[in-house]
Amino acid sequence: MSSLVWFRDDLRTYDHPALYAASLQVEPVQAVYFITPEQWQRHDLAPIRADLLERHLNSVGQTLAELGILLHVITVADYAAIPSALGKLCSQHQISRLYANREIGIYELKRDVAVQEQCERQNIHCHWFDARCLFAPGSVLTGSGEMFKVYTPFSRAWLKKLMTEGYQIWPQPAVQGAPLDWQLISIHYPKVSAQSWLGSEKEVLNQLQQFADDKLINYTTQRDFPAINGTSQLSPYLSLGVITVRQCLSVMQDVLARIPFEKNEPGFSWLNELIWREFYQHVLVAYPRVCMHKGFKPETDSIRWPNNQAFFSAWCEGKTGYPIVDAAMRCLNQTGWMHNRLRMIVASFLVKDLHIDWRWGERYFMQHLIDGELAANNGGWQWAASTGADAAPYFRIFNPTTQGQKFDERGIFIKRWLPELSLVPEKYIHTPHDWLRRFEPSTRYPAPIVEHARAREITLSLFKT
Ligand SMILES: Cc1cc2nc3c(=O)[nH]c(=O)nc-3n(C[C@H](O)[C@H](O)[C@H](O)COP(=O)(O)OP(=O)(O)OC[C@H]3O[C@@H](n4cnc5c(N)ncnc54)[C@H](O)[C@@H]3O)c2cc1C
Repeated sequence: MSSLVWFRDDLRTYDHPALYAASLQVEPVQAVYFITPEQWQRHDLAPIRADLLERHLNSVGQTLAELGILLHVITVADYAAIPSALGKLCSQHQISRLYANREIGIYELKRDVAVQEQCERQNIHCHWFDARCLFAPGSVLTGSGEMFKVYTPFSRAWLKKLMTEGYQIWPQPAVQGAPLDWQLISIHYPKVSAQSWLGSEKEVLNQLQQFADDKLINYTTQRDFPAINGTSQLSPYLSLGVITVRQCLSVMQDVLARIPFEKNEPGFSWLNELIWREFYQHVLVAYPRVCMHKGFKPETDSIRWPNNQAFFSAWCEGKTGYPIVDAAMRCLNQTGWMHNRLRMIVASFLVKDLHIDWRWGERYFMQHLIDGELAANNGGWQWAASTGADAAPYFRIFNPTTQGQKFDERGIFIKRWLPELSLVPEKYIHTPHDWLRRFEPSTRYPAPIVEHARAREITLSLFKT
């Protein structure tokens, strides 16, 4: 008899409770990963993210092989095909125990129920673990036992729980047998190279350490400026499960010699972002309607968005005539990455200046982001669109020009992505049109496609109606 560890959004070998628990049993351990291209297409998995996933799958496969654990990689169309494929694998390899860390999306939860039933039919004992969040969804609740609808009390309760309960990190399992060979696998899914991103667990853990050593202390003052490399850029790995929030906490605690529980302590604002990440995952589980293209605030589903297709295309291509928006979108299209401040600006612009349904933007982000993740992406879009849990009030509407002036004052980021504005003096970089007309009339940079003040009025009336 053997044990089987099912890898999903947890492509790592450290701090993996399911893997660790299986390794403690006397039975030999094997592992499995299911590639589900049709499901991924339905969930808009970005090609660049598929490439990163393939690299980390190979990296985990290699590490497991060194530990003497064979990773089976099986391609099936979608989640519906997994229970029978898993059942077959278990019969072939005399599997008596299945180990996995829980996922949180509703399709994933349904799949796991079907797998549990299949295992019961075959007398396979399932062991499920909560590892995605520091505290499992459903365990940080109001006094009356409900999920919080706003962030600040959630974060207070989360911090209190951390202070009283602490947290645990699981070690990498001991070697289970003679080292095995690992044959590189290739995922059959449209791919865009993610070579500029890290491809192994060890490298990612090093990046976490480096960020904590060099940048954590200045994070609060630097994190909002896209021209500065002031954030951790760890989201692609946190979302694939290559590292965990517990490891982030532990490294932060080592570097700062404590966990920053108070707002004014160094490092608190980074911890706060990690708590936002947890908040959105808890929201997703407590309010599954947000997974089904619905607003967190049901009344906002009745807004009739004009959805002008030409405006949407201009936004996607970075041709709106608003330099900070266009630079951000072109950066996303070329690299699969966008800075958080820019995500807020372009999301607000799409919804509140172009009056396009936030779900169009949410989908475009998923199709292009290297860190595209349902909970954070949905949370971010619903925040910007004022439809979500603790979202920006509907009358708070970012002015794209002043946002650019504030967060990319000298236009350094803008010029990096809009070469047609490279000669525009700093003074005019956020409103370059008059200058271009006078001094570079041949430059093809579009005039603003909407007037912000007018667009703002329309948004207010859409929400009021
Ligand atoms: C419209 C919109 C869409 C977004 N889509 C995604 C997405 O698909 N995937 C994703 O991981 N993040 C998303 N975010 C959140 C945030 O922009 C990214 O997590 C952040 O830019 C990642 O950069 P970093 O790793 O350098 O973060 P850091 O600033 O170093 O923060 C550390 C970690 O905290 C988490 N985090 C930071 N900010 C947020 C936030 N606002 N909400 C939730 N988690 C956060 C991330 O895991 C991040 O890696 C979105 C935000 C907005 C406004």
